[in-house]
Amino acid sequence: MKLYDAVVIGGGPAGMTAALYLLRAGVKTAMLEKLSPGGQVLMTSEIENYPGFPSGLQGWELADKFASHLENYPLERINDEVREIELGTGIHTITVGEEKVQAKSIVLATGSRYRKLGIPGEERLLGKGVSYCALCDGNFFRDRDVAVIGGGNSALEEALYLARLVNKIYLIHRREDFRGLVCYQDKCFKHEKIEVMRSTVVEEIVGANEVESLALHNVVTDERSQLMIDGAFIFVGFEPIMDFVPDAVAKDRNGIITDVEMRTNIPGVFAAGDIRSKLCRQVASAVGDGATAATAAFSYLQHSGL
Ligand SMILES: Cc1cc2nc3c(=O)[nH]c(=O)nc-3n(C[C@H](O)[C@H](O)[C@H](O)COP(=O)(O)OP(=O)(O)OC[C@H]3O[C@@H](n4cnc5c(N)ncnc54)[C@H](O)[C@@H]3O)c2cc1C
Repeated sequence: MKLYDAVVIGGGPAGMTAALYLLRAGVKTAMLEKLSPGGQVLMTSEIENYPGFPSGLQGWELADKFASHLENYPLERINDEVREIELGTGIHTITVGEEKVQAKSIVLATGSRYRKLGIPGEERLLGKGVSYCALCDGNFFRDRDVAVIGGGNSALEEALYLARLVNKIYLIHRREDFRGLVCYQDKCFKHEKIEVMRSTVVEEIVGANEVESLALHNVVTDERSQLMIDGAFIFVGFEPIMDFVPDAVAKDRNGIITDVEMRTNIPGVFAAGDIRSKLCRQVASAVGDGATAATAAFSYLQHSGL
């Protein structure tokens, strides 16, 4: 079984930054990533708020820049899914695909995945008009009518992206006030293709073989209605990916609990990025977490005598 000083699990902005810092400190590091490096950035159309790029850049471009930066260093990569971690005293064992590797320190950086509405029709019509990724599926709805469900930054950003492609967008939010940034709200509310529906809950996604309509309930007027649409894009938040993380690692419903140095309650195990229980789930924050986790892991390796 191969032993590494540090194993980074997840190759999004947090994981790639952690790997970069560890490698530059001379730490023998492996990065375990089940897909292509980039994480959620690869699902993002345009990133306008990452410092250093005042004109913004496409998500894939930023992911590519992160990945090419790592090419300068001797990173070992395993392109498979981590299924289990067995915590040891000092050395931990990780099952990745069919393989097992050992690590003196671990940086957990598997990010987050979209949250589901949990309503009838959502599961059955997934890929048949139900989507969680405007960048991936927006093109299928060119010149058609779609709903965007949600009230945070992702919903607003994705509505603006879809507005370039589709005929009409119904932006449906269950509350009166949107949570997303005011600059995104302004753009959405002024957009001629976007109709905002507040205090409206989607109760069912209806369709025989593909999405045909939404069953809506206005929680203020108590009116129920049917909205004819061709696609339903759902952006109602994210949940951390931590199924493979042992119970002994402290977590709450928002993610893994760390201190300011990204240390978990288990010595030698660190967490960075969206997997953490934290307020700001953004690239800049993930990158900061990754750098901090790597620095703390380096210090741990130096002082632990392993
Ligand atoms: C649609 C959308 C728009 C966004 N827009 C912006 C924006 O404009 N600006 C901004 O700053 N942020 C934006 N974000 C948020 C930003 O992308 C995330 O905060 C950031 O990517 C988090 O980085 P991360 O490295 O923690 O996790 P992720 O980017 O989620 O990366 C985690 C990686 O871990 C891998 N992984 C997961 N489970 C396993 C496993 N078991 N084994 C191996 N690998 C695994 C995944 O494949 C993934 O590559 C957006 C997100 C979305 C979805």
